[in-house]
Amino acid sequence: MFEVVIGLEVHVQLNTKTKLFCSCPTSFNHKQNTNTCPTCLALPGALPVLNKEVLHKAVMLGTAIDATVNKESYFDRKSYFYPDSPSAYQITQFYKPVIQNGHLDIELEDGSKKTIRVGFAHIEADAGKNIHDGDISKVDLNRAGTPLLEIVTQPDMRSGDEAIAYLKKLHSIIRYLDIGDANMQEGSFRVDVNVSIRPKGDEKLYTRVEVKNINSFKFIQKAIEVEVARQTEAWEDGLYDEEICQETRLFDQIKTETRSMRGKEEAADYRYFPEPDLLKALITDDMMEKYSQIPELPEAKKARFLTQYGLSEYNASVLTSAIEMANFFETMMSKDGVTAKTANSLLTVELLARLKGELNLTNSPVDADKLGILASRIDDKTISGKAGKEVLDYLMQNDSDVDSAIEKLGLKQVTDTGAIEAMCDEIIVANPDKVEQYKGGKEKLFGFFVGQVMKASKGSANPQVVNELLKAKLG
Ligand code: ADP
Ligand code: MG
Ligand code: ZN
Repeated sequence: MFEVVIGLEVHVQLNTKTKLFCSCPTSFNHKQNTNTCPTCLALPGALPVLNKEVLHKAVMLGTAIDATVNKESYFDRKSYFYPDSPSAYQITQFYKPVIQNGHLDIELEDGSKKTIRVGFAHIEADAGKNIHDGDISKVDLNRAGTPLLEIVTQPDMRSGDEAIAYLKKLHSIIRYLDIGDANMQEGSFRVDVNVSIRPKGDEKLYTRVEVKNINSFKFIQKAIEVEVARQTEAWEDGLYDEEICQETRLFDQIKTETRSMRGKEEAADYRYFPEPDLLKALITDDMMEKYSQIPELPEAKKARFLTQYGLSEYNASVLTSAIEMANFFETMMSKDGVTAKTANSLLTVELLARLKGELNLTNSPVDADKLGILASRIDDKTISGKAGKEVLDYLMQNDSDVDSAIEKLGLKQVTDTGAIEAMCDEIIVANPDKVEQYKGGKEKLFGFFVGQVMKASKGSANPQVVNELLKAKLG
């Protein structure tokens, strides 16, 4: 009966060394108001100068989403007053943004594909931060003037799942291109969700509500769900026109509800006009050629992983979902004799399960080189797969190389036939009754003999060798 309509606006903080229009550093965690200068403090007479690195990163994104990259774009002033914006306007791109008409193809759980159109992406300056501390509010302008790329879709998504699929894809691409940290908790990937509903079959767009302040994929999903429920209920109760208006609402994670924050301004309220202090942003042919060189993207990498490593569709997807993971895997594969199967399970099952709390692939105590060597020792049968897990546990806790750990834990597999043969003989001699029963047809007892030999070797005997020897000896 109702159809959900969603359009997304994502603000990506670009990881440039310096700010958009001045040479202040963009780094975090500095003392408040120290990364500032007359330009980003908007002191009278200070002039902005465009940071070329920002154009470079914008072109990379435009290339990745098959967009038109405008060789000439320009900046506009968007007027609004807020304490964290000392100029009382934001420099952004309104009339002629740098990127237009791109698209991202998403894949849904059921395997179906869908194209989401990206209407435009524009460069703009971030504001500072208001810090509310009891009765007083403070302003920190370290972030003021940090470059953002605002990436805006057409209202093409029809469910929370589609919105999340788009966001995850975009997030992954930003990380692959390495143009931003895209950390939702730290605010370097900020999502505004525009939601409306309409009767199924209706082509018209109804009133949209913009929901802000959501800092995880899980909460975005939840925010869409509760906002759709609110609008649907209003419609069904005949209160749609009364209760649903174009406004900005805040998502409350604790109460899981959206609350009105402010009425949504129309473009006219911002009095956009061309920024008089800046020249056009020009991208020459040389720059275009250089900037549009981009690394292998998730889809291409997945296709390559499928053929090069013979991985399953699922494993290839998991391994290429994040660039850190893909790189980790390929470093492991570069070690001697490592099979994709061992590398994949050590990485995606064993290591990931052990990375808890603050730990992740970039600060893991066992790095890709080490885990690759461990995989190599499993694949050349120095140790068993089971022993590999023990070695990994040890390496997570101790600063040791792989071979010393194997030595220390005494997990080297015995493949020396003579030693294993002696153990088999011992077990056979010690259990004459069982040998008789086995020979008399109780074949199930074979497992007993294997178990005894493995036990005698403290798990270090190569099970394949044990099996072969016992079969020969017991007849
Ligand atoms: P603003 O800049 O004022 O936020 P835009 O026109 O740029 O407004 O649109 C913002 C976002 O809202 C876009 O992603 C767009 O796709 C989406 N949007 C527009 N109309 C609707 C609607 N009726 N329902 C859901 N999303 C919408
Ligand atoms: Mg907007
Ligand atoms: Zn500055």
